[in-house]
Amino acid sequence: MTNQKKGRVFSGARPTGRQHLGNYLGAIQNYIALQEDYECLYCIVDLHALTTVETTQNLIQNVYEMALDWLAAGIDPEKSIVFVQSHVPQVTELHTYLSMVTPMGKLTDLPTFKEKVRQHPQNVNYGLLGYPVLMAADILLYKADTVPVGIDQAPHIEFARETVRSFNYRYNTNVLVEPQMKATEVPKVLGIDGQAKMSKSLNNHIELAATPEETKARVMQMVTDPQRVRRSDPGNPDICNVFSLHKVFSSAEEVEHINVECRRAGIGCVQCKNLLAQNMNAHLSPFRARRAEIAAHPDNVWDILHTGRDRARKIAEQTITEVRLAIGLPS
Ligand code: SF4
Repeated sequence: MTNQKKGRVFSGARPTGRQHLGNYLGAIQNYIALQEDYECLYCIVDLHALTTVETTQNLIQNVYEMALDWLAAGIDPEKSIVFVQSHVPQVTELHTYLSMVTPMGKLTDLPTFKEKVRQHPQNVNYGLLGYPVLMAADILLYKADTVPVGIDQAPHIEFARETVRSFNYRYNTNVLVEPQMKATEVPKVLGIDGQAKMSKSLNNHIELAATPEETKARVMQMVTDPQRVRRSDPGNPDICNVFSLHKVFSSAEEVEHINVECRRAGIGCVQCKNLLAQNMNAHLSPFRARRAEIAAHPDNVWDILHTGRDRARKIAEQTITEVRLAIGLPS
């Protein structure tokens, strides 16, 4: 990494295993682009996952599959630090220090906390409440100055910035750095139901690593313009999720052709979906080949994560030393 980079980026994602199109278009593509200009730390946040997962049975496999997809998609471990959150335990130490300057009311007021309580009424644990503090610790531990997030995450970044101010004021220091939010336009990728955001838990997703046949089967299940009942009915591509994905995977000419022909019933939905599946498979083919290559040596994936751990720890240890000194803890 050179000092010509624009700054240091931190971004974390929960270990959800094999990634789907929503993950790819919403986050991974952006990760790949950012690593050209920034010093990037990409973290698989397994500790955050503990706040809501019911079982950790598949946790290790999910970490592995996610890392595999990231690497196959083009996140380059030579350019970026790719690592697992719990491999750098200093984050939990910083979380403790930050929690001392965090008023309870701030946490209970966050809309995301209220939403989680609604989603997991049986398991409102302390970790859930302290989640933004751990998230702040993730960013501040590595002195990341840039955090790429969707607009819905803005309150968490503001929370991290306020935490920096509280900490630095309380201990009369400037050791922690206020991160800036890099607002990222996260495209809302709908699932095959055409209603909800693509998500594994809703089983409306298309996995990047699916076979061409599986991909085609999922595309053929996609909900189209609900008003178009018969083949002879004109359709409206503007409200059709198949068309949205054509805009990503098909050529400009094909998109224009569908846009015109759909409206005058010149093309049927089966034909339209067949073309989408074909283009999607062609687009994902290099990714899938690279994934198979990497998956032939699973130890290499863990080696990359362990190298990332060592590089991340080096930064973390330095920050924790400075933080302890600023607080006045014994050495
Ligand atoms: Fe959607 Fe294509 Fe059918 Fe038009 S032809 S409604 S764009 S699937």
